[in-house]
Amino acid sequence: MKRVYLDYAATAPLRREVWEAMEAELGHCYNPASAHTPGRQAHRCLEQSRGLMADLLCCGRSEISFTGGGTQSDNLAILGFVRAHPGRPVRVLVSAIEHQACLASANRAGVEGASVMSIPADGTGTVDLDWLERALATSTRADGGAAVPTLISVMWANNEIGVVQPIDAIVELAERYGALVHTDAVQAWGKVEVDLTQTPVDLLSASSHKLGGPVGIGLLYCRRGVELEPLSYGGGQERSMWPGTQNPLGAVGFARAAALAVEERPANETRWNGLRRRLEDRVLAQIDGARIHGHGAPARLPHIASVGIPGCDPGALLVSLDLDGVAASGGSACSSGGHAGSSVLEAIGAHNHDPYATVRFSFGHCTEEHDVDRAADSLIGAARRFARLTV
Ligand code: PLP
Repeated sequence: MKRVYLDYAATAPLRREVWEAMEAELGHCYNPASAHTPGRQAHRCLEQSRGLMADLLCCGRSEISFTGGGTQSDNLAILGFVRAHPGRPVRVLVSAIEHQACLASANRAGVEGASVMSIPADGTGTVDLDWLERALATSTRADGGAAVPTLISVMWANNEIGVVQPIDAIVELAERYGALVHTDAVQAWGKVEVDLTQTPVDLLSASSHKLGGPVGIGLLYCRRGVELEPLSYGGGQERSMWPGTQNPLGAVGFARAAALAVEERPANETRWNGLRRRLEDRVLAQIDGARIHGHGAPARLPHIASVGIPGCDPGALLVSLDLDGVAASGGSACSSGGHAGSSVLEAIGAHNHDPYATVRFSFGHCTEEHDVDRAADSLIGAARRFARLTV
């Protein structure tokens, strides 16, 4: 049976072009910190990749630190900000729909003494800007005077439901109230336009394997002048932000994957929007009570469709899809059956049926119409079987 892979938001398989770019540099896999010729060649690979990333994001090369992935970048942004202010009150405003990499970092920041607040989202999955403005207005001034250093962490786009957040408006608010903005762009980069001159956030996280690059490398953009305390200590690599022997081959692959994603974005956007519409229209027309999470939001990522189906057990539904050869992922807001609920679906109030299954389909550069049709057939068949079981 030919398998259909619709879980690109979990990881996008390594692209052939990325592999070829890495293969061409296989002879340069040395330690970039070494002073000898092989080391200098590795250093060149690493720095060329950094330069390419800076060009793609429209920032300075020295503002990019390679890390071990998106999780590490998120941790470094949030905890690095908190630890850069030892013994002083700091505030972290983190959205309720963040990835665990940010939520857990914010929790840790709270344990370390930061004042942490959760920015709510509305039913479409969009963060509440009025709430944020009120929180900024009351929280960035202590004793009516000195500003409490404040970091806002809101993802550029959500990984479960694909809703694109109003990052420009958040940056404007942050500027007005003197706060910094971190955005987790792990899912957004390569899917929407990310230009740091247009959207001047202070910190931005990205990850290679979501773009068809190798696993185990990511980056943190840190605007010049923003102070972070590293989370680990060592030889001072990556301007001490991520010390330890660097990964030039990973950086080459990451840079190639990012360049391809940015270059192909306009064409992919049109194609994926069409595929998403095709899938969602069929599901809505043929499954009673089905809904699309994030529907009604001002903007959604083109490659993510999050489908909610009442009356279905989430685990059984995913197994059924898998048996039909369709790989998708959960994201279940289920209060029974032993499945951990999704904090994102809880936050947007999608958790109002029991049982309730959510399936996230996410597309990539190889996804075709017939893949989406197979997924829709499988999902519709499974939902009808569940419906017969429950009458
Ligand atoms: N942030 C978001 C929005 C993600 O979707 C993910 C991965 O699923 C991460 C962070 C973590 O990235 P990584 O897998 O590179 O650690």
